[in-house]
Amino acid sequence: MDIKSLIRDIPDFPTPGIMFRDITPVLAHPQGLQVITKGLIDLTQALEIDYVVGIESRGFILGAPIACNLQAGFIPVRKPKKLPAPVFQAEYALEYGTDRLEMHQDAFSSGNKVLIVDDVIATGGTAAATAKLVELGGGVVVGFAFLIELSFLAGRRSLPEDIPIFSMVSY
Ligand code: AMP
Repeated sequence: MDIKSLIRDIPDFPTPGIMFRDITPVLAHPQGLQVITKGLIDLTQALEIDYVVGIESRGFILGAPIACNLQAGFIPVRKPKKLPAPVFQAEYALEYGTDRLEMHQDAFSSGNKVLIVDDVIATGGTAAATAKLVELGGGVVVGFAFLIELSFLAGRRSLPEDIPIFSMVSY
């Protein structure tokens, strides 16, 4: 299956100058979610993770089936004020704007191995902030997995050099 041909390009969304990579046609394809989650599972299963940390909200869609298949737990990293129990917070810069992410303080135990999952890595700010949250929680980030990498934005440079970064489709 040609995943890239199913990704829809929406110019000037959500702000002028941004080419939004819309994965909803991939998700709508009857085999789409299965193919992309299997692809990301094949890339990451050797890491033997304890948890997938998925970034709101498209990271939830990809992260939950990956966690399920790897027999790992799933932990949501959310936009501000969504999580009910005490949280760690991290600020981050988006390709468009700035925001804050939160994760439950008791999400996992110290030393647990974590895979961070999102649909797109652009500047890398979101993933870097999520890695900070995992560290604050005492976890160890052992990998990052994205469906799409916007290589021209060099988001990898925002992430630690020694941690593997996997993606299936690159622009
Ligand atoms: P960044 O922090 O710059 O790496 O941005 C990554 C986050 O923003 C991810 O959660 C993406 O869902 C979203 N995002 C950033 N740029 C795009 C884009 N061009 N198309 C789709 N989603 C994007």
